[in-house]
Amino acid sequence: MLSQVVELIEAKRRFAITSHIRPDGDSLGSSLGLYWLLRALDKDVEVIMRDPVPPAYQQLPGAGYVRVTAEIDRSYHAVFVIECSDVSRPGLKDLENQFVVNIDHHSTTALFGKINWIDSTASAVGEMIYNLCKATGVRVTKEIAECVYTALLTDTGSFHYSNTTERTFKVASELVRSGVRPAKTAEAVFASYPWGRIQLLGEVLSTAKRDPSGRVACMRQTLEMQRRTQASDEATDGFVNYPLTVGEVEAVVLLRECEPGTYRTSLRSKGEVNVARVAGLFGGGGHRNAAGCTLRGNWDELETEIMGLLVDAVERANGLKDTTDDALNVPDDSGLSELNSQNSEISP
Ligand code: 5GP
Ligand code: MN
Repeated sequence: MLSQVVELIEAKRRFAITSHIRPDGDSLGSSLGLYWLLRALDKDVEVIMRDPVPPAYQQLPGAGYVRVTAEIDRSYHAVFVIECSDVSRPGLKDLENQFVVNIDHHSTTALFGKINWIDSTASAVGEMIYNLCKATGVRVTKEIAECVYTALLTDTGSFHYSNTTERTFKVASELVRSGVRPAKTAEAVFASYPWGRIQLLGEVLSTAKRDPSGRVACMRQTLEMQRRTQASDEATDGFVNYPLTVGEVEAVVLLRECEPGTYRTSLRSKGEVNVARVAGLFGGGGHRNAAGCTLRGNWDELETEIMGLLVDAVERANGLKDTTDDALNVPDDSGLSELNSQNSEISP
């Protein structure tokens, strides 16, 4: 919990920070925000990641200091692991032998740390890093503000998703007061892609299909499309959201071939439709409205199976189904449901 993290930071001196492979806005923004926080306290700290910083986040203060490595090759008093569902997610050899501090806002995370600070009411881990500034008395500098703002911006889908709360805006407001320029950050993150992204998007959108009800959509991205358009992995971020811009579509899946027969699968939904449960059936996880997993096997069969489960999830959410013994009838432990029940208490 937070107080243990504060005590650890006060007592120790040499730290590392890491996050998951293919780092995104929250993992990098939070890691670098924590980096500047620890620097402000005169600690020795480095950020280590298995994968390089994608172009969209290279403008983040401190991005140039991220050390790309696949193993922990130095000794630290503690290693902070940011937004990872388990200790293998950072892809760092020997990480489990370190004093690991697990910091996450997914309630589904394994408690793999010696210290576990999990806050499923936080819209992003960035919000937790902001709280840590308050708890340690570190001033929110422009560097910290830009990192934390990027985490909030990306993990809330530009303040669209249901994890966006009054508190998110309060924190964002203070970050802007501390020097963030929202338009500049948004442009760096969302309007700095290479041309290949547009070409790949065209190909992926041309695969879009819907189930007979029109409520569930699916799309595919093949290795061949990626090769043709020369788009990088991170250039595909956000593709999965396009079908949800259609009024009646409530759930969508994008299967992205990452090696022959293996598909990184992204699930998104609106409202009460719980895609974290669907991802959970395949060993993945996430939030109610944004989740993911890795699938292996025959492309058409996997698509049919997952579309069927998404139709079930949509029917459940709309009260159209007797749910007593279907595959999705598992305890709901997505952080967002807790968050939403809180929201309903504070909304007018
Ligand atoms: P994306 O579709 O952007 O890759 O993932 C959406 C969200 O789902 C992530 O923010 C993360 O919370 C979750 N997620 C994605 N893939 C996995 C996975 O393989 N395991 C777990 N536990 N969560 C995942
Ligand atoms: Mn996050």
